Amino acid sequence: MAWIFIEEVSGAPAVVGLEILSKTRTEGATTVLYFGKGSDAAFATLGEFGATDVFHLVPSDGSTGTAAAAAAISDLVAQHQPDAILFGQTYTDRDVAGRLSTRLDRTMISNGIDVSLDGSVGVTTEIFGGSQLVTTMFEGPGPHLVLIRPKSFPAESAGGGAPTVTTVPMPDAGHAGSARVTGSFVEKTEGPKLEEAAVIVAGGRGLGSVEGFELVERLAAPLKAATGATRAIVDAGWVPYSKQVGQTGKTVKPDVYIACGLSGAMQHLVGMKDSKMIIAINKDEEAPIFAVADLGIVGDVHQVLPKLIEALENR
Ligand SMILES: Cc1cc2nc3c(=O)[nH]c(=O)nc-3n(C[C@H](O)[C@H](O)[C@H](O)COP(=O)(O)OP(=O)(O)OC[C@H]3O[C@@H](n4cnc5c(N)ncnc54)[C@H](O)[C@@H]3O)c2cc1C
Repeated sequence: MAWIFIEEVSGAPAVVGLEILSKTRTEGATTVLYFGKGSDAAFATLGEFGATDVFHLVPSDGSTGTAAAAAAISDLVAQHQPDAILFGQTYTDRDVAGRLSTRLDRTMISNGIDVSLDGSVGVTTEIFGGSQLVTTMFEGPGPHLVLIRPKSFPAESAGGGAPTVTTVPMPDAGHAGSARVTGSFVEKTEGPKLEEAAVIVAGGRGLGSVEGFELVERLAAPLKAATGATRAIVDAGWVPYSKQVGQTGKTVKPDVYIACGLSGAMQHLVGMKDSKMIIAINKDEEAPIFAVADLGIVGDVHQVLPKLIEALENR
């Protein structure tokens, strides 16, 4: 028996949670720990994606709620003894999973891209920039704690009905629960979301300057694409962190990823190498991005991108 922890984001279950649920339901794991205010619509979505039972954990107003959630889950674990609890690789999920690992004295494996729950619990992770996969089997008593990276599985509706929802009392977590949320800020973005876009145009240091990124935006517009970036140009302040693709940024799997003036460092590749088609533009024919590209243009982005933009705009 495995449980799936799903955080509420903007009133709905986090997409990464639905991705994990879509996978685990095929192995009979359909119990969700839902962390958020909750609503009929949110529970209906969980049911649609295969949840049959929901333990509802409601954070108190103004609190991060993660310490109390970990305390509440450890009480549930004592009652029900699940074999595993799966989390998304997100800030809130990591916070709860880490606290739970300490409370229960149980091992946690992070960065999972696949999980098997048949009998023993196994987690697949990538090493050496995704060039090799390692599957690790847990030993010893559960619950085994697993963090799964976003986009590891497709989120697919199962057409299920409403789940049974049980509201779980949230214990007083004492000093650990005293952190308060004093404000939250949602970054304004235009156009398609990076994680959901079918086409992404991404830029790196080879664009030369913040003005160079305008070429990426101009190419993205006619393609209805989202724009992405390397950490180098996020750190340089050319674009916000929300655009960063890679190990410490977002994981994306678009149909087409157009990489402009970026080298293809291992830490960038792990976030985009599973794109269906990769097109790279780089003036260095030895750039590592060409090793994963389906199509490559060896050339200067300042010459190639204006021509592409012109061709698209004239269509
Ligand atoms: C712990 C850790 C985590 C990291 N996480 C991330 C992450 O999440 N995402 C990420 O992206 N990076 C990450 N990095 C950084 C990563 O290692 C690289 O430094 C970074 O990805 C390089 O960015 P870049 O490709 O833009 O720059 P560079 O590596 O400098 O590459 C620039 C490329 O542009 C090409 N170029 C130059 N001029 C032109 C031109 N006029 N026309 C065409 N091509 C041109 C060059 O040939 C070169 O290949 C991380 C690093 C560490 C240590």
